[in-house]
This record gives sequence, C-alpha cells and structure tokens, in this order.
Amino acid sequence: MYSTKKLLRNLSLILIIMILTPLTIQAKNINYISNREPLIENPYIALPIGSIKPKGWIGHQLKLAAKGMTGHLDEIWKDVDSNNGWLGGSGDAWERGPYWLDGLVPLAYILNDKELIKKAKKWIDYSLDHQQADGYFGPVPDTSRAFEDSKWGRRQKWQEKAKQDWWPHMVMLKVTQSYYEATQDEQVLDFMTKYFQYQLKQIKQKPLNHWTHWAKSRGGENLASIYWLYNYTGDPFLIELGEIIFEQTLSWTERFESADAQDWDWHGVNTGMGVKQPGVWYQYSKDDRYLKAVKTGVDKLMKNHGQVYGLWAADELLAGKDPTRGTESCTVVEYMFSLETMLQISGDPEYGDWLEKAALNALPALLKPDHCARQYYQLANQVVCNREWHNFSTKHDETENLFGLETGYGCCTANYHQGWPKYVNNLWHATQDNGLAALIYAPSEVTAKVGDNVQVTFVEETGYPFKDRIKFIYKKGKETAFPFYLRIPGWCKNAVVYVNGKEYGKPQAGSITKVTRRWKKGDVLELHLPMKVQISFWHERSAAVERGPLVYALGLKEEWKKIAGDEPYADYEVYSKDPWNYGLMRNYINHPDTTFIVKEFEVTDLPWTLENAPVKIIAKAKKMPEWQMYGGITGPIPYSPYWYPKKYKHAAKEIELVPYGCTKLRVAAFPAVR
Ligand SMILES: [Zn+2]
Repeated sequence: MYSTKKLLRNLSLILIIMILTPLTIQAKNINYISNREPLIENPYIALPIGSIKPKGWIGHQLKLAAKGMTGHLDEIWKDVDSNNGWLGGSGDAWERGPYWLDGLVPLAYILNDKELIKKAKKWIDYSLDHQQADGYFGPVPDTSRAFEDSKWGRRQKWQEKAKQDWWPHMVMLKVTQSYYEATQDEQVLDFMTKYFQYQLKQIKQKPLNHWTHWAKSRGGENLASIYWLYNYTGDPFLIELGEIIFEQTLSWTERFESADAQDWDWHGVNTGMGVKQPGVWYQYSKDDRYLKAVKTGVDKLMKNHGQVYGLWAADELLAGKDPTRGTESCTVVEYMFSLETMLQISGDPEYGDWLEKAALNALPALLKPDHCARQYYQLANQVVCNREWHNFSTKHDETENLFGLETGYGCCTANYHQGWPKYVNNLWHATQDNGLAALIYAPSEVTAKVGDNVQVTFVEETGYPFKDRIKFIYKKGKETAFPFYLRIPGWCKNAVVYVNGKEYGKPQAGSITKVTRRWKKGDVLELHLPMKVQISFWHERSAAVERGPLVYALGLKEEWKKIAGDEPYADYEVYSKDPWNYGLMRNYINHPDTTFIVKEFEVTDLPWTLENAPVKIIAKAKKMPEWQMYGGITGPIPYSPYWYPKKYKHAAKEIELVPYGCTKLRVAAFPAVR
C-alpha cells in the first residue's frame, strides 16, 4: 500500500518529469526535423546538405570556389594553416578558422569533394576530439607563450585573451551543424549539448561581452544554434539557456524600432548578422513585435544607407547612401545568411526578394571571376580600384577596394566563402505539409522526401536570373500527391504557372503559390516570371536600372594590374580607359517600358564577366564633363532635379548596361540629363 506521503512524492515526481519532458507533439512534416514545441512551427525546413545539387552557372561557381581560394586557403594564408589555434597550434585562435570552415564544410559536402571533405574534417575532428570534461572546446587559453612576430604581436596577445571568447565559438557551432546536416554524425549532438551545458554554467559570471564586444552584438548566432540543437534533442535546459543568451545580446529589436537618424554608428557586419536576431527569438517568444522589427530594421537601413545592390553601405560603420561609400564583403554574406534564416522562420516571400537582390548583385561583384581574389569594400559607382584617397569611415592603407588575398582586412578573406554554398542549400525547402518549396531560383537538382516518406527528384532548368522561365521536371520517384510551392517575386506583376504545358494559374506578385496534384515522373511545372525594366531612385535622386532581381550597370573594360603576391592568388589594382561620367537621358528614366532595348544572349557557365554578360540593356546617355574623379572615387554625384535635369547641347550616345554582378568597374547610380 502507498502511504499518502509516498503517493504525493511520486505524483510530484511525475509532475516534474512532465514539466521537464518537452512536449513531443510532432510537427506536421514527418520526413524532416523542424521546430519542436514550444518553438513556432517554421513554415520552411532546411533539407540535409547534399540534397540539392547545383547545376549550370551556380554549379560552376561552386566548382570555381573549390578550385580557387575556398579550396586552397589553408595553403596560401597563414591565418588558417595547420598552425591555427583551432588545430591546437599557436596561430590565429579567433574567428578566421571557423569563418573559413563555415563556407568550406557546406561546399565540400554539396560537391561531395573528397579532398575538401578531408580538409574540413581535420578541423571538425580536432574540435570533437579535444572537448574538455566541462564541455569547453576550441583554442586552449595559454598566456605563457612568447610573442616573436612583431607585426602580429599585439594582435596575438589580444588573441590569447580572446581564446575563450563566445564569439568564434558561435561560428564553430554553425560549422558543426553543417557537418551534422551533411553526415548525421551523432557525435555532434552530444558535443553541442556538452558545450551548451558549459555555457549555461559560465554565462552568468562571464556574460557574452566578457571577452569581446562582438559576442554581445552577435548573440543571435548563438541563439540560433541553441534552437537548432533543441529541435534534435528536446533538452529543456536549452530553452533556459536561450532566454539568458537573448537577454545578454544587444537588442536589435530596440535598435530597429527606435533608430531613425542618418548617423547611426552601427557596425555593418554586426548589422548583417543582427537582422535575423529578433526573428530567431520570435520562434520562442511568438510575439509579432520581433518579426515586425526585422522588416522595420531593413526598411530603415535601406532608406538611410541603401545601395543599388540591395545592401546598406557600411565601411565599417554605416555610411549613408552615397554610391562611393563601401559595403564590406562579410556584410554581404552575413546578410544573405540572415535573410535565408528569416525566410525559413517567417515564410515571408519578401525575404526571398531581398536575398536574391544581394546574392545576384553584390556577391558576384566582390569576387574576381576565377575566385582567386576578393574585395573588402565594394562601391555602387566604382570606376577604379587603386590606392588613391577614399571617403571610407575606416581605412586599411587605402587597399580596401583592391582585389586580393588580404587587401583591406582579413576577415572577408576568411568569411566570404559561405555565400554561394549556403545560397545553394536554400534553393529548396521541405514544407510542414510534407511538400516541397522552390523559394529562390537557380539551375539545380533536388532529391527530397515528400508525402509519406516518398523520395522524389526534381530537376530545375533555367537561365534565371538572366532569363525569365524556370522549368521543374519530375525526374525520379513514384506517382504521388504532394504540394509544390513557388515564390512569386514582388517585382513580377504577371507571373504564370504552367503544368505540363497547360496554364495552371496567374499568381500574385509577392506571394507564395501552391500547386497540388498527383505528380508523375516526367511532369513539367513551369514558372514564367516576365521581367520589365524598372527604375529605382537613390542618392541625390540618381537612377538605377533594374530588371527582375538584377541591377544593370555601365560596365567598364578592366585592366588588372598585379601589385603584390604570386599568381593566381595575387593583389590587384583595376583600371579602365573607358569613359564613365554619363548621365542617363530623362526620357529613359521616365518611360523605361518604351525606351530601353533588352538584348539576351546565351547563359554560359561563367556569366559573371563583362564579356559573358547574358543580358545587355541599351540606353542613351550624355557625358557630364563636370563630374570628375576625386581621389580614388567618382566626385560628388550631380543632383538630378525631378522636372528639369541639366540640359547638355552635345548629342546623346548609346551606352550598354550589363548585370551589376558582371562588372568590377562600373557606374550603377546615374544622374539624369536632358
Ligand atoms: Zn570582413
């Protein structure tokens, strides 16, 4: 017989177990892990790495990454060589190793490239194998070391202090997540659980900003990893840790809600990461305030600091709208990752539009076409890359807009690699109703599970973003019913969906449309996204030419001048003899529908060069002799009055515009002329 006391004790034990055991209400998707309670049901679910195979031009970008800097960075740059702190050595012990891996790991597994997997695995294994009993992993603090290298002495001393810094660990957690998503290696879940137990024990005495201020600004990354693990393990302590991390992170929500002035002193890369932070927290708080804050934040950033290529200028601090101010390459890829995260969490198609804008303009522009050099800052109007004077808020010997290995600053050398591989991973998603969603578009092939555990393979054939038709062909799998979702970009007012050649629907701009049917092998779903030339207005009412997700710029013929290093990984200045100081004729700006002539060409494997530009837009322009160089930048852009832009007596000339991402030297923001 139970005594009342015993019964009560057992009841309370059951109650405690009930409280501690997470609710195991299964999300609707039965094929993939997605958010579990109490987190919101995320509408789009990432597919395991390797499910999406890039093809065509985007497949070629990944091959170039493997052949170029991403695949060889450890051989050419001491900061990530075998002496790195994350491999137990005395080299860089902060963010650079993890940053590189954040791109290398998804790249290696998407391509299933044995050599790259071997390279990446060395770092992952080191972290997994050297976790301490208390859960800490990573470079071991050791303040006894002598500093011999005078150039790096100060930085290394600071690095010793920063070895335990929460910030680079946040990046390494993302790396182990990618590794898990590619391999399902169970060690990762255990490893991350132990680390978060360590963090929970330490975080009150050593809050996020204990070692550096970066972790406080970037705590959203930490929070996202906590929820990622929680979805696999359901450990309740992770929810508690999440609350503490959120409390200690800089409030991006308040920043976005309150900021209105033009002179915010925010750091550009922090802002790129911070954009998703309220959204990550929304998953737990379920308070719409946080979703709204992200939208408000991006709107304000673009209004006050926006550039034609879809990001804000920040060189390194937010820099206003002048097209001679720069955007750092880290900001480009971090903002892309934030938008990818927001698309999955919110399901809001506008994040897809913003993502394509940044990825298909700013990302190709910052890379040398062979992926052997990158920029630190890019400019919308950039007619030379040299060491003359620039108007940047933070400078590094005036090398900031050169192409090179470490020109400007090394963070971008380590960090830009995540751009294309993560974009590929976000082309397709699973949905909660066991369907499939194509949310951003590029040539690819996906193999995923739909319906009741049915494996299907779809091929996506397209010349997008240069061409306006996207074809999805059901290549492999049995006949089965499931919903197929498509994103209709906000810029497309007359999209049409066809199934097997027959019109299926005319979905609204800025929506997600659903095609439900019993899919059979050979079925063809086609999306037509007609692209019109449109004008957007920027600094001093300058005009930019857009068509679909692409911005079009006057591309100047480039002369690359090697100034340091050994080919192929050298540093370059870039010059052009082409004239650039054109104003666009007013009638083109006022009547884009009837004036511009669009010429389409073949989309080759390498469309992102001046020579291979798959689309050219012909316009008329006049030279503005008063608009001249000012140091290493174009002088102040002449203001364009609405009614009567400045009239010039000389005749107008035809100019050829190409996609912004095809250019290194260009004018993308044009004054108006008559
Ligand atoms: Zn950077």
